[in-house]
Amino acid sequence: MAGEQVAFFKGGFRPLSDATVSVRSKALNYGLGCFEGIRAYWSKPENQLYIFRAEDHYERLLLSTKIVHLKLNMTVEQLVAATVELCRRNAPREDTYIRPLVFNNSELMSPQLTDEPAELAIYTLPLRDYLDVTKGVTACISSWRRVSDNMIPARAKPTAAYMNSALARLEAKENGYDEAIFLTNDGYVSEGSAEHIFIVREGKLITPSSQEDNLDGITRRTLCQIAPELGFEVVVRRISRTELYVADEAFLCGTGAEVCPLVSVDRRPVGDGKPGPITMALQKLFWRVVRAEVPKFADWCKPVYPK
Ligand code: PMP
Repeated sequence: MAGEQVAFFKGGFRPLSDATVSVRSKALNYGLGCFEGIRAYWSKPENQLYIFRAEDHYERLLLSTKIVHLKLNMTVEQLVAATVELCRRNAPREDTYIRPLVFNNSELMSPQLTDEPAELAIYTLPLRDYLDVTKGVTACISSWRRVSDNMIPARAKPTAAYMNSALARLEAKENGYDEAIFLTNDGYVSEGSAEHIFIVREGKLITPSSQEDNLDGITRRTLCQIAPELGFEVVVRRISRTELYVADEAFLCGTGAEVCPLVSVDRRPVGDGKPGPITMALQKLFWRVVRAEVPKFADWCKPVYPK
């Protein structure tokens, strides 16, 4: 990575330092935006950067814009092409995070969504581990409940919902935990501050559905699709809080978090308090999948540099 990074903004590529908004922007004042988080993985043997499930992330972004009434006049193909070009220009040779952000940039006062076109910004930054995926993390049940889909749509990725995540994460950190786990208003397990959750009981992987006020997750989808390769069955169903305490294994997953073992919840060790064997087997397969090392799933990995 050499020289100043560029961002995609206002329909073109420009230096990152020029991609700025007014303090009057509605996005800043009222959180009227939605976004994506995408990872691109560096493959040393192939000298290649692979964007993971780019189309799926942009399809979700377009669904988010539909839910929160932001008008983005670009197709998935155009968004993927802009992202590939952005990566080529920034030329990372390491694992990279890609952040597309769609927002209402009007400077009029009032938290009103309008029909005018929304602004799109895409930028990249280096990203290795978001959580400690080797040793695992501790978590608590947050005293903050997950915003329900009827409050701020949790199925999408609206910027405003991340106040909920930030408050939960702050509380967890202040109380000595690495992460927070949200319950729904009904008291069932929803998700982490920016991750989904799986538990393992009697050899089966169990995860709550998006009806539990959580994001329509791409890593969760990926794990559900690759787990059968290792002979693991996945069950999508409600999880009670106390099931976390008696699970044999548990882990968080997400674009940032990847597959991250949970070693304790509310100071009760998960299993024997160490990353579990099923979790680690899945993590190992996941890392091969995202670096295009598993032919069956290689279509999920979009090469950035010409082959
Ligand atoms: N839940 C929330 C609230 C998130 O922000 C994220 C990160 N995007 C996830 C779950 C994980 O979803 P994904 O696997 O699609 O990144």
